[in-house]
Amino acid sequence: MTSAFDYEPQPRRASVAVDVGGVIVGGSAPVVVQSMTNTDTADVDATVAQVAALHRAGSELVRITVDRDESAAAVPKIRERLERLGLDVPLIGDFHYIGHKLLADHPACAEALAKYRINPGNVGFKAKKDKQFVEIIERAIQFDKPVRIGVNWGSLDQELLTRLMDDNQAKGFPLTAQQVMRETIVQSALISAELAEEAGLPRNRIILSAKVSNVQDLIACYSMLSSRSNHALHLGLTEAGMGSKGIVSSAASLGILMQQGIGDTIRISLTPEPGGDRTREVQVAQELLQVMGFRQFIPVVAACPGCGRTTSTVFQELAQKIEGDIRRNMPVWREKYPGVEGLKVAVMGCIVNGPGESKHADIGISLPGTGELPAAPVYIDGKKAMTIRGTNIAGDFETLVGEYIEKRFGQGQAAAE
Ligand code: SF4
Repeated sequence: MTSAFDYEPQPRRASVAVDVGGVIVGGSAPVVVQSMTNTDTADVDATVAQVAALHRAGSELVRITVDRDESAAAVPKIRERLERLGLDVPLIGDFHYIGHKLLADHPACAEALAKYRINPGNVGFKAKKDKQFVEIIERAIQFDKPVRIGVNWGSLDQELLTRLMDDNQAKGFPLTAQQVMRETIVQSALISAELAEEAGLPRNRIILSAKVSNVQDLIACYSMLSSRSNHALHLGLTEAGMGSKGIVSSAASLGILMQQGIGDTIRISLTPEPGGDRTREVQVAQELLQVMGFRQFIPVVAACPGCGRTTSTVFQELAQKIEGDIRRNMPVWREKYPGVEGLKVAVMGCIVNGPGESKHADIGISLPGTGELPAAPVYIDGKKAMTIRGTNIAGDFETLVGEYIEKRFGQGQAAAE
């Protein structure tokens, strides 16, 4: 049994790797961050701008809605515009109801997309359902593209649900209605995957997802799905909601699943505030993977919460400023300072815990608290390097952080090694 001293996430579940336009999902690849636009795909300018923003924020795959002829016709133009901007982010087409028709009528769209998302609950009804599903699979085979079979409880296959409810009734109700619903979600994904494989699409071209909006249902469905198949899995809580509720619900459910080794790509489905920044969902996905220790994207700024010992908001402002500077500079720093994403900066409100936390960071400062001298000790690489005094403590510390990054991660350092 694992002792608490060496507690770690469970080994990653073995899944079949899928190549999505050059980005590997599953197998031994790191968990991939993806996102989705909320623009009208037929509006090429708006969609290109949002895909570019999401990709620049760190989204490794971006999904766009393909809901009608105008959207399908816009997809190759969007692809071309992105390439002209030097952005080779794979685009995923989200299809509902008429995906089979749109892919058949718009071969340039089928070619420009890196993956097709199919919702088995929204692909057609009765006899048409399997036929239209297989038609999309045949397009995927023709254009050599992977698919995601994305079950969503809000559009769950009602015929399958009714059948499983009837079976449960015939057996004397051994399962609760909630358990039948979970089983239907999982079976919908697995039956559709089987149908896709029978139609000739290999497993290394299929990703599965089973999204619900309730945290416990989500954990249950993915646990069941992961134990019954080795398909690569896309994790996401659907309708997660706005603000902190969406973030907390997504982090709790996806965090628990990833701790169990489940999940190959994640999307955080946040509802933006009106006019809000769509890239927030990418930031949250990266932060979740980073705080859990799975990937590193951006330097960490550790800041204390503040308390009655803090005299002003200076340390919060400094922490916020440094974090903002880092996020803004990262696209350039990633190229200029390889390894900078592993940097840890500490900004603490007083000397009670400040020096201790600063010693554990690469560079840290403790600002003066109530009754303390107007002096701020700075620790670099675990040792006290200097004390900043005067009226420009925040500005001087920012300069020190810049110099530290240049010295440690800059080309001069690389040449010296
Ligand atoms: S470091 Fe100082 S200011 Fe920050 S929470 Fe701890 S005691 Fe309060």
